[in-house]
Amino acid sequence: MKNKIEDKQKISFPQKLISPIKHFLEKELLKSKRAKKDLKSTDPFLDNNRTLENSLEEDLDEQIGHFETEVKAKFLSKRIVQLRKALTNIKLGKYGLCERCGKMIDTDRLSINPSATTCVKCEKEKEA
Ligand SMILES: [Zn+2]
Repeated sequence: MKNKIEDKQKISFPQKLISPIKHFLEKELLKSKRAKKDLKSTDPFLDNNRTLENSLEEDLDEQIGHFETEVKAKFLSKRIVQLRKALTNIKLGKYGLCERCGKMIDTDRLSINPSATTCVKCEKEKEA
C-alpha cells in the first residue's frame, strides 16, 4: 500500500472529495465526447441526403443549422479540453489549485464548476 500513502501526500485537496469529483469529470468527459460525435450527424452540410436544389429558405436553414452545429462543437471541444485538464490535475495532485496563480480555488466555485482550473480572480483577468 505504498502508493496510497504517496498519493495522499501529493494531493492537497481532501482525498475523500477527489474520488466523486474524478468520477463526475470522467462521466462528463464521456458525455461531451459522445455529444460531439452526435453533433456531426445533425450538421446539414454533412447530410448525405442533402439536395442541391434547395430553395433559398432551405439553404438558409442549412446555413443556420451548420452554424449552430459549429458553435456547439466549439463549445464541446472547449469543455472536453477543460475536463481533461481537471482530470490531469487530479492525477498530478494539483486539483483545486489555480493554474495561473497557484492558490487554492474557492471550494464554492469548484462545487458549481468542478472542472475549473483557475480561481475566480484569474478567470476574470483571463476574460478581461
Ligand atoms: Zn488564480
